Order: sequence, then C-alpha cells, then structure tokens
Amino acid sequence: MEKILKEITAVFVENGKKVFLVGGGVRDKIRGENPKDFDLATDAEPDEVCAMFRKRGCVVAPTGIKHGTVTVFFKNTAFETTTFRAESDYVDGRRPQSISFSKNIEEDLSRRDFTMNAIAVELPSGRVLDPFCGITDIKARLIRCVGNPLDRFDEDGLRPLRACRFAAQLGFSVDGALAAAIPQTLQTAAKVSMERARDEFAKTLLSQKPSVGLLLMEKTGLLRLFVPELANCRGVEQKGFHRFDVLDHLLLACDYAATENRCLEVRLAALFHDVGKPSTRLMDESGVWTFYRHEHESARLCRIILTRFRFSNAVIDAVCRLVAEHMFFYENIWTDAAVRRFVMRIGLENLENTYALRRADAFAIAGQPLTVGFLSDLISRVDAELAKKRVFSLKNLAVSGKDLIGVGIKPGPRMGAILNELLDSVVRDPELNTREKLLEIAGKYEK
Ligand code: ATP
Ligand code: MG
Repeated sequence: MEKILKEITAVFVENGKKVFLVGGGVRDKIRGENPKDFDLATDAEPDEVCAMFRKRGCVVAPTGIKHGTVTVFFKNTAFETTTFRAESDYVDGRRPQSISFSKNIEEDLSRRDFTMNAIAVELPSGRVLDPFCGITDIKARLIRCVGNPLDRFDEDGLRPLRACRFAAQLGFSVDGALAAAIPQTLQTAAKVSMERARDEFAKTLLSQKPSVGLLLMEKTGLLRLFVPELANCRGVEQKGFHRFDVLDHLLLACDYAATENRCLEVRLAALFHDVGKPSTRLMDESGVWTFYRHEHESARLCRIILTRFRFSNAVIDAVCRLVAEHMFFYENIWTDAAVRRFVMRIGLENLENTYALRRADAFAIAGQPLTVGFLSDLISRVDAELAKKRVFSLKNLAVSGKDLIGVGIKPGPRMGAILNELLDSVVRDPELNTREKLLEIAGKYEK
C-alpha cells in the first residue's frame, strides 16, 4: 500500500472509523494502470471527516456535502471522501431528495453505477469486496450495471452517458442489457442537468478514441437527444474525394485530434467543423454536392450546441473561431504582408490549433494521413514572420492610447478604431512602427 494511503487510513482508524478505497482508483489498479486519484468511502459522516482532519491541520473542502463528499487535502494529495450511501436518496420522508447515510459498505456498493466501479478495498487490511463480480467484468473488458439497467437508468439519467464515456475511455464494450436499456430510459436522461451531461461529454471527447463513445451515443439515441445537429449529419453524403458521410467524417476528425493529443477545444472543433453541411448542401448543375459557406453555418450551430451544454464563453469563442476559419487556404504567391494578415485573422494564439484542425479534417476525408500540400509551406512562411518579431497586437505598437491623447485625440471608440487602423498599417508595412510615423498617420485619420 502506498505510504500516504497508510497515513490517511491511520487517521480514520484512530477515530474508530472504517475506510475503504473505492471508485476509479481501484478499477485502474485492477487494470494494471496507475490510479489518477484515490476515492475513499467511510462510515464517518461528513462533519466528522471535516473535524477529524481539521484537527490535524489539513485543509478540508466540502465539495459535495449534499452527497456526503468532502475533499481532504492530506500532505498535498487530494482525497475525495464520501460517506457510505444508503439504499435510496429519499427513504427519509422528511428529507426527500436528500441523501441518507449508511453504516455499511455493501449497501453503498449496491448504489454504485457499474460493477467495475462497485469494488472496495478495505483499509488497512487490503481485503477486497467485490459483490457484483466487477473484477471478472474488468478482465472481460465489459461495462455492466449493478442490478437491473432499466431501474438504474431510471434513477439517474446521467448513467447512460457515463457508460458511453467509460466505453471511450477504457475501450470496454457494453453489456447487451445495458445497451438495450438506454433507448428505453431516454426520458430520464433528458432530465439530467446540462452541466453534468457536459462533463461526461467532455470526458468522452478527451478519451483516446472519442468515436467509440459517440457511436454508442448514436446507436442508443443519446446523440439525437443531446446533439441532434450531429445526429442529422448521418447519411449526408459528400462525394468528391470524401469517402464518408458527414457524421463519420466528423468522428474521424475528432479521433485524429485525439491521436495528436490535442486540447478539448480542438477536439470540439474537429467534431463540429462541418455540422452546418446538412443545411447548406446543394447540388450544382453537374450533379456535384456543394456546401457553400458551410463553415459559417457550422460555427453558428456550434455556438448553439456549446451554449446549450453551458461551456464557458472562452471555450465557445475559441471553438467557433476555429470552425469558422477551418477552410483557409494558401498560395505561394502570397506577399509577406498577406501572410501577416493571415496571422492577424486567425489570431497568434490559435495558429497551432488551426493547423491541427486542418490536419484532422484532411485525415478524415479518406481515413488516412493526407498531406495538405500548402500547409507546410504556409507554416514556414508564418514561422519566418514570427521569427522577425513582427507586430501582431496593439501592445507591441510603437504608440499607445496615451500618445494619441498627447496629440489631441480623445479617448473613446474612435481612438480604438484609430489604434486598430495603425496596427493594420504596421502589419502591411512593419517599417511604419515608429512613434513618429504612427503619430503622423494618426493625425491624418483625425482629420
Ligand atoms: P474517474 O474519476 O476516472 O473519472 P470514477 O469511476 O472514479 O472515474 P467518478 O465520477 O470519480 O468516477 O465517481 C467515483 C465513483 O462514484 C464511481 O466509480 C462510482 O462508483 C460512483 N458514481 C459516480 N457517479 C455515479 C452515478 N451517477 N451513479 C452511481 N454511482 C456513481
Ligand atoms: Mg474518480
């Protein structure tokens, strides 16, 4: 047992309390992986856990006190500590919806979602409790509900999404009864808060192969429920070089972003970059499908989807910008100024992600690496400009708002516009970035 676990266990034991290792940490250990974190279950009530550890000078955060969870920061490690849960969240008629606690671990385990998540290791003895044969299922790489899936999904509509997330994260298959129960309990899944659904959706995308979870969502109706815009991409053929319909193209692009280990924003952009294709598809005179300006329709739909999922504005803006700009192109005849204008349009901080999205898009045309001829040329041209320490933002301009006030320009929107005009001038001609020259140009604008 790890030293730190031994030490934290001692605190529970000294206080006459039971403690078990549970959740993902146990699952990971059985799979032979290093646990990311340790979840603990105890018969101590949340207040008692807080008191026990505060007395020892530890920081304790009541992260989910309603559900009996407190996070204990013990020697720089965070432990999620949850009091055993009782049979039902509403057995106590006086406190409907509120959690009631149990004195035994078996009852707690029977409330957990999947057999692989319902294994406990008693501390410090190391005795393993596996009442639902979770170890066998982990060895068989199978996700199976604790008890009857229909009942379990009716209790908590998040569990079907968790099953899809774990399928993608672990590469496990789902038990037949579990898969069959999802379409029958969609009305409960529909009641889940968008924040909880979003967290599972994001974890699915951050897995090694997001398409595994997303295809399971499609097969079971969850995709149409949560992201109908994406479900509408099924069967939308594209022809030309494309080998796949729009949905498979998007899934492949997202998987490719995962193989490059990209951040959530790039994965979201890869998944949604063509989501506007179904509504912009038209056949031209020669019988070829066209998707005129689909990147703008995709960005519009993407904003609707991500807003519905309550992603932060920063994530929404970054993803929509990537989607809106994903059709960029380049030719060798571009001037250096054109290259700098490209950098301005994409944004310095988005360059890497924009290239990554383009590679993912190209890969997903036929499901194999496809060199975007112009991309490496463009990247060299951009890098050459960056190496010259060119000016791409107002903060590197040789004049500031203060300088403009000095020559009689009043603060306000007009001043902002002038500063941006000056930046444009410098992007066009870097030689202009001196105080003298810029003030002269500003003077002209003011007239
Ligand atoms: P990871 O932390 O790697 O995402 P995990 O299995 O630890 O995986 P958590 O969301 O941290 O997942 O939950 C910890 C444990 O709590 C789970 O293993 C499971 O036993 C239980 N659990 C979490 N959410 C639910 C739920 N909606 N219904 C039933 N049990 C749940
Ligand atoms: Mg966990």
